[in-house]
Amino acid sequence: MNTKAYGTYADNKPLESMKIERRNVNENDIEIEILFCGICHSDLHTARNEWQSANYPVVPGHEIIGKITKIGSNVSQFKVGDIAGVGCMVDSCRECDNCKNDLEQFCDSGATYTYNSVDKHLNSFTYGGYSERVVVDESFVLHIPENLDLAAAAPLLCAGITTYSPLKHWNVGPGKRVGVVGLGGLGHMAIKIAKAMGAYVVVFTTSLSKVDDAKRLGADEVVLSSDAVEMSKYQRSLHFILDAVSAQHDINTFLSLLKVDGALVLVGAPLDPLPVVSFSLIGDRKTFAGSLIGGIAETQEMLNFCAKHNIVSDIELIKVNQINEAYERMLKGDVKYRFVIDMGSIKE
Ligand code: NAP
Ligand code: ZN
Ligand code: ZN
Repeated sequence: MNTKAYGTYADNKPLESMKIERRNVNENDIEIEILFCGICHSDLHTARNEWQSANYPVVPGHEIIGKITKIGSNVSQFKVGDIAGVGCMVDSCRECDNCKNDLEQFCDSGATYTYNSVDKHLNSFTYGGYSERVVVDESFVLHIPENLDLAAAAPLLCAGITTYSPLKHWNVGPGKRVGVVGLGGLGHMAIKIAKAMGAYVVVFTTSLSKVDDAKRLGADEVVLSSDAVEMSKYQRSLHFILDAVSAQHDINTFLSLLKVDGALVLVGAPLDPLPVVSFSLIGDRKTFAGSLIGGIAETQEMLNFCAKHNIVSDIELIKVNQINEAYERMLKGDVKYRFVIDMGSIKE
């Protein structure tokens, strides 16, 4: 089945209109007409081969919300006409310990990601949500709660789960002082979710223009991280820090803000190493850790949590022909706070 998509043929080429192949609906499959797709910084990292793992053509997009247009004979949890979501994964082995423990993102055979993974059905690579439609196994499709605005809920499928999962795993809640570093798509979701979990949230940004806005998003305090005097006031003051920065930066500065036994968890994924000084960790028995998206069951739990707390992303809705411009603005930190593509515009 030929499908219109927006992608790129090389790391130095802009995204453009193209045709891709989608498989026919098998017995366990769901076909979704894509309504909205968020733009994650990982889309840009991949399209420009910044992680040195791109398989071209790359059609990014893993924050997908759409309407179900067809279902296979074995599908039981969804029906035609339902609104459904697809996040960062579309398959995994389902047999290893991690898959059995609802941690498909850590599948021993490697999860099949929504784009840029080997597609076992079509003998090609998987193509993401910057497209008219997608066909996905029911086990990797999410229910979207009715009270959420569909365009603004799309970023929950990556930015939402990527921040919810570590916040929950490290027991963020009432009485905890939490730092969020980098106020982009992930960072702004981290503020909203950590606040809803009951934590006290301090945001660290490099952008003067976001200082007031972070408070509007729910932050209790905001610090301009380039201001050394302000930064020094937060030494050993936080239980937990979520670092969602997409580029090189000094981790040691942020480790010094943790209390004894505090943890700094990296979700941002710049390619180059982030050097850590031993004394940044051993002095106060600190942990430096990482986290990758979240499993499918946890993604549904996060969606339900967001529905209960009325949490969606702050978005700027764009058309497909604005994607390249959106990438440039994302690189400059000029997004408040997630671009979402109105996929209806691919038909224009
Ligand atoms: P984004 O919207 O572009 O936000 C990144 C933020 O990082 C910027 O808004 C900016 O915040 C800060 N920043 C950018 N360049 C910086 C620099 N040179 N120095 C200091 N701060 C800088 O990106 P995103 O979509 O939230 O993604 C963030 C990162 O997480 C990306 O690397 C992405 O690939 C990764 N990611 C990881 C996972 C996972 O599972 N672990 C999932 C999704 C995304 P301020 O303006 O506030 O400083
Ligand atoms: Zn993402
Ligand atoms: Zn597995």
